[in-house]
Amino acid sequence: TTFAEFGLNTPLLSRLAELQYLQPTPIQTHTIPSILAGKDVLAGANTGSGKTAAFALPILQRLMIRTSVNAAKGNMVSALVLVPTRELAKQVADSFKSYAVHLNGEIKVVAAFGGVSVNTQMLALRGGADVVVATPGRLLDLVSSNAIKLSGVTTFVLDEADRMLSLGFTEELAKLIALLPKKKQTLLFSATFPEEVCQLTHALLVKPVEVQL
Ligand code: AMP
Repeated sequence: TTFAEFGLNTPLLSRLAELQYLQPTPIQTHTIPSILAGKDVLAGANTGSGKTAAFALPILQRLMIRTSVNAAKGNMVSALVLVPTRELAKQVADSFKSYAVHLNGEIKVVAAFGGVSVNTQMLALRGGADVVVATPGRLLDLVSSNAIKLSGVTTFVLDEADRMLSLGFTEELAKLIALLPKKKQTLLFSATFPEEVCQLTHALLVKPVEVQL
């Protein structure tokens, strides 16, 4: 398989060529077509598998198609990626930005994580964002101060779900999930599947395509 066969657009393909991503990794081959088709996906994936690109590339592609009609407005966000740590929030947001460099600034990506001043993130969220990559605690703070609205989320990614729960974010996660629209695309990535993750999976995903490598 090649990235071109997925039907990714030229700005994304040329960026992948620059980054010397010569061919998709197995997790990418098995998830990208389903994500592009709008399906829910449940994926068993470790760090280093290429899982970030597996969700970031199809999300960017779908946002490109929608962006002209559905430009970021209010404090709305279209794609929400929830991650367990600040480091991962920065990394994943940087990956989105890197893949989007040839999209001519059409896609706005904001990282929202704790441990730094909330003001910069609030300002960044003004006027909405296409992609927000966030840790649960800071995201809840931003929601309560009306800096972000989750009612327009069309794609929700839960990255490293097992770590999210083992770090004790179960309650925050439940609160955030309750704020999301019922109808949305959900993508769940986890390295392991303990009971708690399986329960979450059943509650969150609708007829998911399951990818276990
Ligand atoms: P991840 O599992 O998302 O943390 O990605 C691991 C590393 O693999 C990152 O440094 C990516 O830039 C890189 N990567 C992801 N997909 C590919 C690919 N198809 N070809 C080469 N490198 C890749």
